[in-house]
Amino acid sequence: MASLRNTTDPGMLIDPFGRRIEYLRLSVADKCNLRCFYCLPEGHKDFEQPDHWLRFDEIERVIKAFAELGVGRVRLTGGEPLVRKNLHQLAASLSALPGIEDLSLSTNAVLLERHAENLFKAGVKRINVSLDSLNPERFKAITGGELAAVLSGLQAARRVGIAPIKINMVAMKGINDDEFENMVTYCLANDFTLRLIETMPIGSTGVTASDHYLDLQDVKKNLSERFDLIPGVMPGGGPARYMQMRNENLRIGFITPISQHFCETCNRVRLSVDGTLYMCLGQEDNMELRPLLRAGISDDGLKQAIFAAIALKPEKHEFKNKPGQVVRFMSMTGG
Ligand code: SAM
Repeated sequence: MASLRNTTDPGMLIDPFGRRIEYLRLSVADKCNLRCFYCLPEGHKDFEQPDHWLRFDEIERVIKAFAELGVGRVRLTGGEPLVRKNLHQLAASLSALPGIEDLSLSTNAVLLERHAENLFKAGVKRINVSLDSLNPERFKAITGGELAAVLSGLQAARRVGIAPIKINMVAMKGINDDEFENMVTYCLANDFTLRLIETMPIGSTGVTASDHYLDLQDVKKNLSERFDLIPGVMPGGGPARYMQMRNENLRIGFITPISQHFCETCNRVRLSVDGTLYMCLGQEDNMELRPLLRAGISDDGLKQAIFAAIALKPEKHEFKNKPGQVVRFMSMTGG
């Protein structure tokens, strides 16, 4: 397997298309305490049993191997990561690993009020929070949950010093497309960064998501005129293309996997809760690490398996041409 190593820098992970992999999204739970209609269907119960979830010590081994291969950024996600018990303990051990420079969290914030302080102390310095509506009834209709809990969670995160806080709003025609200006005003008032996301055809609910697809290029144009936006940048360099308000600190990111994909700069892979390493959110290429871990693979063997997995990374997703292709849920791969 040594031949799979990058020859210019054998310690780094470079995929077949020359992209350096430096970011890992780690799903720590496939359960979720919300039921966003475009993500998980109501009543969905087909979750992995916790026995199949990687244990904290197994996760630490995998992340340590990645860190030694130049992956310095890890995001805790799910499902809903805050439903995983003692998440702050895992966060503390991951952020203490040599080479891990950035540990972040994606959450729906329902449970954030009670966990924000512990997570911050454990090294989670920045978070992304899903928030599709500021209207309590509409929020309930979209997610099945209570908006008030999310807003309290966001304020708690602010209070303890987590920054930046990014709001992820999935933009949906006929659902929340009259709320963009409101959301901009809310983010401005609270010093949050706003990111608008195009719906992706993922999971069996993908058809529903696609029914409400909204091309963000038009939204960007309208908001730019309304709020005097100019091109901006945001440290972290993810897939969002940022605009910012001319004389204010507000940034708005546009994540456009469909209207303008960003696969050529993809620097990430995803580890699902059951220890499967997925190479692309929109393709099935994967490597199962859990059987290797439980069969007692050596540290070097684990790194070899990671190199072999990276060699499978496809060039791009095919959401546009083959929208029915990915049937696994976002909560499983780690959104
Ligand atoms: N529970 C965490 C949260 O709420 O951020 C992390 C997981 S969640 C699956 C991650 C993000 O994926 C959320 O912002 C959610 O809105 C988004 N998402 C889920 N399904 C989607 C779809 N079909 N298209 C676009 N975004 C989607």
